[in-house]
Amino acid sequence: DTDTESNSRDPTSLRTPIVAVLGHVDHGKTSLLDKIRGSAVIEGEAGAITQHIGATAVPLDIISTIAGDLVDPDDFDLPGLLFIDTPGHHSFTTLRSRGGALADIAILVVDVNDGFQPQTLEALDILKRSQTPFIVAANKIDTVPGWNVNEDMPINATYDAQSDRVSSRLDESLYKIIGNLSDEGFSADLYWRVQNFQRNVGVVPVSAMTGEGVPDLLAVMMGLSQRYMKEEMEIDVTGPGVGTVLEVKEEKGFGKTVDIVLYDGTIRADDTVVVGGQNDPIVTEVRALLQPRPLAEIRTESRFEKVDEVGAAAGIKVAAPDLGDAMAGAPVRVVRNRSLDEVVHEVRAELADIAVDTADEGVVVKADTLGSLEAMADALDEAEVPIVRAEVGDVAPRDISVASTAEDSKQQAILGFNVDTLSDAERRAESDDVKIFTDQVIYQLIEEYEEYVEDLEKAQQDTILDNIVRPARFRILPDHTFRQNDPAVVGVEVNSGTIQNNANVVKFDSNEPERVGQIKGIQEQGEDVDEARVGNRVSVAIDGPTVGRQIEEDDELWTEIPEKHAKILEQELTDEIPADELEALNMFLDKQRSRDPFWGK
Ligand code: GDP
Repeated sequence: DTDTESNSRDPTSLRTPIVAVLGHVDHGKTSLLDKIRGSAVIEGEAGAITQHIGATAVPLDIISTIAGDLVDPDDFDLPGLLFIDTPGHHSFTTLRSRGGALADIAILVVDVNDGFQPQTLEALDILKRSQTPFIVAANKIDTVPGWNVNEDMPINATYDAQSDRVSSRLDESLYKIIGNLSDEGFSADLYWRVQNFQRNVGVVPVSAMTGEGVPDLLAVMMGLSQRYMKEEMEIDVTGPGVGTVLEVKEEKGFGKTVDIVLYDGTIRADDTVVVGGQNDPIVTEVRALLQPRPLAEIRTESRFEKVDEVGAAAGIKVAAPDLGDAMAGAPVRVVRNRSLDEVVHEVRAELADIAVDTADEGVVVKADTLGSLEAMADALDEAEVPIVRAEVGDVAPRDISVASTAEDSKQQAILGFNVDTLSDAERRAESDDVKIFTDQVIYQLIEEYEEYVEDLEKAQQDTILDNIVRPARFRILPDHTFRQNDPAVVGVEVNSGTIQNNANVVKFDSNEPERVGQIKGIQEQGEDVDEARVGNRVSVAIDGPTVGRQIEEDDELWTEIPEKHAKILEQELTDEIPADELEALNMFLDKQRSRDPFWGK
């Protein structure tokens, strides 16, 4: 039989499911991946697991050795699991395929002591949106006080070896996690109680440190994939490769390269490929396909070894000319058996699919990958923050130019997710009064921006309030005329609102307003003051009227509110002014509107 391995394979075959690990910082994502890789290396006596670029493939027979009785290889025909090496929802959102997440399945790591944390919620949100099936690894069970370690054991065996006190402590933490999941709309249970993993989230207690529960974790992943994902794993292995750019990297001797995860077909060392770029799709010829060199050979000239062909699912480095504009998260497609135009068209359509809807006005958004840009756009959409421009890349001077032209000062802002700010952009931002926000956590970034907007609006309202005539209703006290006219000086009591110096004074004569004069001084107990609040008794000098003619003792007087001010007060500032002022305003409006129903509207 002279068939090469790839020829002897059935052209439709089952590919390896791609697994992503998510969770809050320090909950043990990296440790868990290391543990799985480490166990796989030991069980396979090195070499049986394949280190890919950016991913680790663990074949079925190794999984079955690690999982022992929990995985019978005869029950499965999926070839194993491909773990993405970079954990975190960042790489998860980057790694997208047409129509959703590239990862077929995810592990959400939650520290049993620490429970749900902000990034746990964010990861859940992303999983929900991308409709990715996942299981929860309730990690660090070995930290339950009094824990009796049974390295690499399945959970039921190690659980049985714990004292009642220890196991009930663990149960408590696990039920808390299950409760948290339910709060987020996921029906969850300990994995051995879950019948239907499509409807319920399985929680697997593990320790990334001791390996306890890792057999269960692998068994559940395998079972779930085999049961519910088999159809999606059916690919034409000889077909043209389709993948996603994980990272764009400068590599000595190769120039700009792209690390990709291939999820369909094959890529060959002599293929023409189309890669999504900042502007238009890049059409280029593969110069080399590179894999990490096995550990034993690492001392030789290059860290990489060239291969002729790779089939999905796999992580591979592609060296090719003209990759400078390639973007993390962009699609990669091999041109084979089809016209170049068709493939370019497809890549362009995929890019357009990811492209963020922008508005005529809004904030500028920058992110390091297409996927994270999309996640940012979704989150901003939810927060009802419009976007004027959304791009992959660091914050650059031209972003400042765009942001600085916003008419609304709260939109003179740039939100950068996982990006740097170029130093000339920073200088420019300062001189152009553009605010730059950057963070590694989407919800924190948006929260920061929202707080800023709130402060800005508060400050704006304060300035408006400073320039607006405030409502007041007051009464001239009997026997308190200190001067008849020029100006009239009378004692008054403020019934509601705030009297301000220089305000015009009106009196209503059967709902007809009559201006009687202007306040030219307020004194409280002999001291000059600028205003008098509700309940105060003060003397006011009113320029214009004569007591006994235009005004009388016991008269009810009002501060005259210009119609425009009344409108702003009623429509925008009712939450900002005190209740008594609002009362004065409403009474004033009632009087005006009994004469003209549209007054101040
Ligand atoms: P990541 O930020 O989610 O990738 O978390 P790491 O894997 O870096 O783990 C954070 C810390 O928790 C490290 O100090 C780990 O050694 C520790 N850690 C992770 N998993 C376990 C576990 O199962 N048990 C114990 N005791 N410590 C753990």
